[in-house]
Amino acid sequence: MSYYDYIIVGAGSAGCVLANRLSADPDTRVCLLEAGGSNRSPLLHVPAGWAATFKNPKYDWSFETEPEPELDGRQVYWPRGKSLGGSSAINGMIYVRGVPVDFAAWEHAGAKGWSWEEVLPYYKKAERQQIHDDEMHGSDGPLHVQEVRDKRPMDDVFLNAMNQAGIPSNPDFNGVDQAGCGYYQFTQNNGRRWSTASAYLTPARSRANLTIITYAITQRVLFDGKQATGVEINRSGQKQIIQGAHVILSGGAVASPQLLEVSGVGDGERLRNLGIDVVHHAPDVGEHLQDHILCKVVYATQPEHSINREVQGLRLIPAALRWFFLREGPLTTGSAPVGAFCYTRDGLEAPDVQIHFASGGTLYNNAGKIRALKQPAVTAVVNQSRPESRGSIHAKSADITDAPVIAANYLSSQLDRDTLLRGMRILLNIFDQSELQPYLGGRLSPDVETDLNDDEALMAYIRREASTVYHPTSTCSIGKVVDETLHVMGVEGLSVIDASVMPYVVSGNTNAATIMLAEKGADHLLAARR
Ligand SMILES: Cc1cc2nc3c(=O)[nH]c(=O)nc-3n(C[C@H](O)[C@H](O)[C@H](O)COP(=O)(O)OP(=O)(O)OC[C@H]3O[C@@H](n4cnc5c(N)ncnc54)[C@H](O)[C@@H]3O)c2cc1C
Repeated sequence: MSYYDYIIVGAGSAGCVLANRLSADPDTRVCLLEAGGSNRSPLLHVPAGWAATFKNPKYDWSFETEPEPELDGRQVYWPRGKSLGGSSAINGMIYVRGVPVDFAAWEHAGAKGWSWEEVLPYYKKAERQQIHDDEMHGSDGPLHVQEVRDKRPMDDVFLNAMNQAGIPSNPDFNGVDQAGCGYYQFTQNNGRRWSTASAYLTPARSRANLTIITYAITQRVLFDGKQATGVEINRSGQKQIIQGAHVILSGGAVASPQLLEVSGVGDGERLRNLGIDVVHHAPDVGEHLQDHILCKVVYATQPEHSINREVQGLRLIPAALRWFFLREGPLTTGSAPVGAFCYTRDGLEAPDVQIHFASGGTLYNNAGKIRALKQPAVTAVVNQSRPESRGSIHAKSADITDAPVIAANYLSSQLDRDTLLRGMRILLNIFDQSELQPYLGGRLSPDVETDLNDDEALMAYIRREASTVYHPTSTCSIGKVVDETLHVMGVEGLSVIDASVMPYVVSGNTNAATIMLAEKGADHLLAARR
C-alpha cells in the first residue's frame, strides 16, 4: 500500500505536464498511472511514425463512434494514444492555440479566470518557440515548437493558389491574428516528435518523489463518502489499491467521463441501470461532447510533386536513413505542413474554418491502417472551427475495459452542415486556381461523377466521406462537471484535467490548449496546497 499527495490517472498531453509541475517540489509525492507502456518505440519519435500506430493495440485505443445519423449511419474510427505521452505521442504535431473569442465563450460558460489574457501566460510558459520571438510567444518552456523541416515546392504552390483565391498570407497562426494561410508550426525538436512525455516527463523521471507506473489500468476512483481516497488499478491481472490525498483524472475526453461514471459520479439513473453505486449525481458527466469533423479534396498529380512514392516500398529506406542521420526528409513531417484559417461568411469575430494541405494522398478507412496511396496525389481537408453539434460519451458497463458508447452527433446542427459545405466550396475554389493547374491530374475525391455545382450532391459526398480531426473535448466541462479550478463539483479530493474540461473545443488543433490547461490546472492545485 502506498500513499501519495497526488495520483494522476493517464500520462497523456495533460498528465505528463501535471506529473512534472506537481513533483517539482521534492516534498510532494506524485504517482502517475498509465494504461499503456513506455514511449521508447521509434514509431513514437519519428514524426511520420504516427500512421503506423493506428489500429495498433500497443499504442492506440482504436475507439469507434456509434453509427452517426448525419453521416449515412457510418461509424467513425477514433484513434487515441495509449503510452507515455498519450495522444501527443501519436498526433499530427500541429501547434495551434485557438483564438481569444474561444476563451470569451469559455468564460461565458462559467470558466471564470480562463479569458485569453489569463490563458496566454500559460501557453507561453509551456512554449519553447523557435520561429517567432515576440510578446505572443515563450522561448524557455519545455515544449519545443519548430518550423516544418520538409517544405516542398507543392506546399508553396498551394500557398500561392490560396493567395490567388483571396486568402492572405499569415506567417504566424499563433500571433495576433489567426486568419490567412501559411506553414504550420510543429511540436518537434530537431526533426523528432516532441510529445509531452519528451517535453515534461523525461526531465522529471529521475525525481525520487515521482513514481511512474505503466501498464496500470485504473479501474475506478475509491471514495469514503464523498471524499476521493485513491484508485484501484489492474496491472497484468493483479488488482492494487493506490491511496492519495488528491486524485486527478487525465484520461482524455473519452476515458475521463467513463472513469467518473464507473466510480459512481454521473447521472444517477444511468449509473443505477449499470449496477453502479451512486456517489454523486452529476448529470452532465459525458454530455456536451464536441469534435472537429473534416472533409477532403484529393487530386492526382505527377510523381515528383507527391510525397507518396518516397514513403513506400524500397524508397522508404533512403527516407529512413535521411531521418536517422540528418533529421531531414519526408519522415520529419507528421501531418499537414501547410494550412489556412478562413471565413465562410461576413460578420464573424474569427475565422470559422481551418484547412490542412499535404502533398500526399492516403487510403484511410475504419477497417484498415492508414497508408499512402499507390498513386501520386495531393490532399487538402477542411473543418469547421467552432461546431454547434454536441454528442456524448458514456460507460457501457461498470467495467472500465468495455469501450464506452461514443455518439459524436456530427453535423446535427444546420449551421455545421452549412459551414462544412461552404468550407468545401472554399477548398474546391483553391483547386480551381491557375497556379495549381500545371500540377494537377484528375480529381480523385470527390470523384468526377459528383456534380460540384449541386449543393445536395456535395452534401451527400460529405456524408459519405467526412471524418474526425481527432479533437474530442468537453465531456467533463468547466462550469458543468468541474469548477474553474478543475475540481469535480460535489465531491472532494478529485479533479479532471485534460481536453474533456474545455467548455467548447478551441478554434484549432487541441494539443496546445490541453497543455495550457494542464499548466494552469497545476497552478490551481499548488495554490490550494499553500
Ligand atoms: C491521431 C491524432 C492526431 C492528432 N493531431 C493533432 C495535431 O496535429 N495537433 C494538435 O494540437 N492536436 C492533435 N490531436 C489532438 C491532441 O493530441 C489531443 O487533443 C490531446 O493529446 C489530448 O490530451 P489529453 O491529455 O486530454 O488526452 P490523451 O493525450 O489522449 O491522454 C490520455 C491518457 O490516459 C491514458 N488512459 C486512458 N484510460 C486510462 C485508464 N483507465 N487508466 C490509466 N490510463 C488511462 C491513455 O492511455 C492516455 O495515455 C490529435 C489526436 C490524435 C489521436
